[in-house]
Amino acid sequence: MSKLYFIVGSQDLYGEECLKQVAADTQEMVDFLNEKLADTITIELLPTVETSRICVEDMKKVVVDDDCVGVITWMHTFSPAKMWIKGLQLLNKPLLHLHTQANEALPYSEIDMDFMNLNQAAHGDREYGFILSRLGIAHEVVAGFYKHEDVIARIRQFAQVAKAIDSSRNTLVATFGNNMRDVAVTDGNRLGCEIKYGWEIKYWGIGEIADLADAASEAEIDAKMAEYESKYTMATDNIEAVREQARYEVAIEKFMEKTGATSFTDTFQDLHGMKQLPGLAAQNLMAKGVGFGPEGDYKISAFSQVLMKMAEGREGATGFIEDYTYDMVPGRELELASHMLEVPASFAAGKPEIQVHPLGIGGKADPARLVFDGVTGDGIQVTLVDLGDHFRIICADIELVEQPEVMPKLPVARVMYRHKPNFAIGTAAWCYAGGAHHSVVSTALNRSDIILFAKLTGTELITIGDDTTQEEIDRWGLPQMR
Ligand code: MN
Repeated sequence: MSKLYFIVGSQDLYGEECLKQVAADTQEMVDFLNEKLADTITIELLPTVETSRICVEDMKKVVVDDDCVGVITWMHTFSPAKMWIKGLQLLNKPLLHLHTQANEALPYSEIDMDFMNLNQAAHGDREYGFILSRLGIAHEVVAGFYKHEDVIARIRQFAQVAKAIDSSRNTLVATFGNNMRDVAVTDGNRLGCEIKYGWEIKYWGIGEIADLADAASEAEIDAKMAEYESKYTMATDNIEAVREQARYEVAIEKFMEKTGATSFTDTFQDLHGMKQLPGLAAQNLMAKGVGFGPEGDYKISAFSQVLMKMAEGREGATGFIEDYTYDMVPGRELELASHMLEVPASFAAGKPEIQVHPLGIGGKADPARLVFDGVTGDGIQVTLVDLGDHFRIICADIELVEQPEVMPKLPVARVMYRHKPNFAIGTAAWCYAGGAHHSVVSTALNRSDIILFAKLTGTELITIGDDTTQEEIDRWGLPQMR
C-alpha cells in the first residue's frame, strides 16, 4: 500500500522531556490518522527534526522509498527553519503542511509557559511556511485540528492526489502510430511532458499489436469473450467481429505486460495489419484504469490515467471523452460528448450493449463497440494543453444529464452535459482558454482536486463554473493571456 511519511519539527532548546512529549503526541496523531485513512493510505512517523542533519536523513528516506507518495510535515514546537533548508531541497514528492495542534481547546485555567513552549504551531508553522515560500516549494497547507472531519477529508484528498502524481511519474504511454495528421492540440512537446509530469511517451508500430493479436490463442479469446458476456449484453449476431476486439484486448494487455506500458494511443489513420479500429477493446481497458488517447493524443492518454488514479476508491465515473455536437435550443442548451467508438465503459448508466456497425472513416471492417447512455450528476471536464512554453490545465464544472430524447440511430456511447454558468459563457470560456476537444470527464472528482494537482505540479490552471463571468473571459482574450 502507498504511504505518506510524517515528519514533525522541534528543536533541542526545550530539553528531553519536551522532545519525548513531541514524539508521543505525534505518534498519537499518526495512529489516529492511520485509523481514519486506512482505506486510502498508510502514514509512518519519521524521527523528530531537531537538527538540519536529522531533516536531511528523514527526507532521504522519503526520496528513495518507492512506496512513499508524499510527506506530511507539522511543527509541534518552534523549529528554526534554517534546519529544514537542506532536507527540503532533496524533496521531490508532494508535500502537505499540516497546520494543527495536539490539543483542540486552549486550557485556559492550566496554561503556563511550559504548555506554550510545547504547543506553538501558531509560531513554528509560520516560520516553516516562510521557508517553503522562500524556497519556492510547491505544497498544500491544511489548517485545523487534526481530528476534525474537514481536516481528515483534506488529508485524504492530498493522499489521493499524491497517489495520482506517483502514477503520473510512473506513466509509460505506448503510442501506436503517430498523431493524427494535421491535428494541432494532440501534438506538443513529448520531452516537456516527461520533464514536467514524468510521462514517458514511446512510439511503436501498430504491427506489434497486429502480430500479438494474430498469435492470440482461442482459449485466450474465449476467456476475454466470457469477460465481455459477463459485463455486457451481446446485441449482435456478428460474433466474429466481437472476437476480433477480444483479440486486440488480449494483444494490448500482453504488450503492456511486456513493455511496462501503462497507457496507450492509436489512430485510425494507421491500422496496418488490423482488421478493425480497436473499439470495444479500448472501452473495456479504460474501465480498468488504462489511459487511452485516440488519434495519437498521448497527453490525454496519460492525463486520463492520472485522473482515474486520483478517483480510485470514490463513487462516480472518470474517463476520456470528446466534445462532439450541441443542442442550442434556447433554454435546454446541451452538449453531446462521445467518440467514434472509444467511450470508457465506466460512463455507462445501465448495462452496455455490444453492437457492430460500419465506421464511416478509416476504411476498415465494421468494428464492435459498446453502446450506452451516460451517467448523470455534477461533474468536471478537464483537459491539459501544451502552449509551447508551458502547460495549462482547464477545468470546467458541468452537469451531466439524461438525454432529452432517444437517439436510436447513433451507434456509439455518449454522455450529455450542461455547461456552467451557462452555454454562452461556459463554452466560450473553454475556447478562450485554448481547451482541447479531448478531455477527461469525471463525476468522482471536483474542482478542488484539480486545483491541488495543479498546485503540487506547478501547472497553470484555468477554472470555469458558476463564478465565471463574461467580463472575466473577455480579459482572457487580451494579449497577455494568449
Ligand atoms: Mn478525437
